[in-house]
Amino acid sequence: MVTHKLIDLPSSTKRHEGELVFCRNCVMSSTRPRIEFDHRGWCNACVWGEEKKTLVDWEGRWKKLEALCDRVRKTDGFDVLVGVSGGKDGSYVSHELKHKLGMHPLAITVTVPLALRLGNENLERFKASGFDHIQVTPNPVITQKLNRIGFIEQGRPLFGWQINLQVCVLRIALALDIPFIMYGEDGEIEYGGSTETKNQWSYSMAYAIRVYLSGHDPMEELKKIGTNHSEADLYWWRFPTMDAIEKLNPQASHWSYFEDWDPYHHYLIAKEKCGLQEREDASSGTYTNFAQTDTCLFDLHMYLAYLKFGWARCSQDAGIDIRRGAMTRKQAIELVKVYDWQPLPEDFIVQYLRYFEMTREEFDAVLDQHANKNILKKEDGIWKPNFKIE
Ligand SMILES: [Zn+2]
Repeated sequence: MVTHKLIDLPSSTKRHEGELVFCRNCVMSSTRPRIEFDHRGWCNACVWGEEKKTLVDWEGRWKKLEALCDRVRKTDGFDVLVGVSGGKDGSYVSHELKHKLGMHPLAITVTVPLALRLGNENLERFKASGFDHIQVTPNPVITQKLNRIGFIEQGRPLFGWQINLQVCVLRIALALDIPFIMYGEDGEIEYGGSTETKNQWSYSMAYAIRVYLSGHDPMEELKKIGTNHSEADLYWWRFPTMDAIEKLNPQASHWSYFEDWDPYHHYLIAKEKCGLQEREDASSGTYTNFAQTDTCLFDLHMYLAYLKFGWARCSQDAGIDIRRGAMTRKQAIELVKVYDWQPLPEDFIVQYLRYFEMTREEFDAVLDQHANKNILKKEDGIWKPNFKIE
């Protein structure tokens, strides 16, 4: 599921000025936005991983989901909207809602820029496995402008699309009278960050803007793309009015509140039931091959995570595997050195330059501008860590 999988990449470097600390259980560092550590030096994703095994009443939470579904289930039309990209998580959640909970889900995809063939093929296979699906393609010219601004100003090459994800889902829910919106995992809780929603089954739009868009109000960002666009042109970027939202009052929720989030289990079910196929090689920047195959801009997004915070996709994947008991911290550190601490692969550079309308020099200058000089140093043209993980 794409919706909140993209980790937040704020441009602020305030947090990086202090001492760099690594979680004693996984390999996540203190540069992660909103992360906290307990007295043992465990990050909140690892503390949550522990709580999930011992403290959380999963049976009670599942009953809560069943009750919510009973309350909104329709005999005519769709009762739940699920964000999908053709990846494992959205496919799994759609499958469970339909076949385990007897819901009538409408799967929604917001067209991603620079889509990859495998992602498109997986989406087709997902639909063919028996789902209703709607795809929204906001004007790619406007998405490109916002992505370009996001890349230059904030180091967020998917910024325009991230706004679309929030707005399109909400607008379709309102237009089709769908009372329930189901997202995948709450990345803040599962991977480290704010834990304020860990005991809440639904969240507000204000929370979405603050956490998923780093507090950037889409309306303020839209002003930067000039005056050539009318309000009507910006329909898929403007949040509906509060009046319109409150009329239907759709409830947005994360599946990870109701069931122990297990990406590997989702992968197995999506492969068996929804036709999911993995990459033949490992994904760029990590050792896994079954996640985030929908756009090559995701590789750039994660490289910027490395430049800003000193960790990237492999650190995040390794954390998941450590918490599910499939990897030791020592193994994770070795993998991080191999995958996260690498230059941006050249595979998609031509596509990036064309998309952002930049020369290689301009593109590299943007990357350099976002590199966190407190933790990285440039050697022979390559940004290398100026720290050690032990
Ligand atoms: Zn941790």
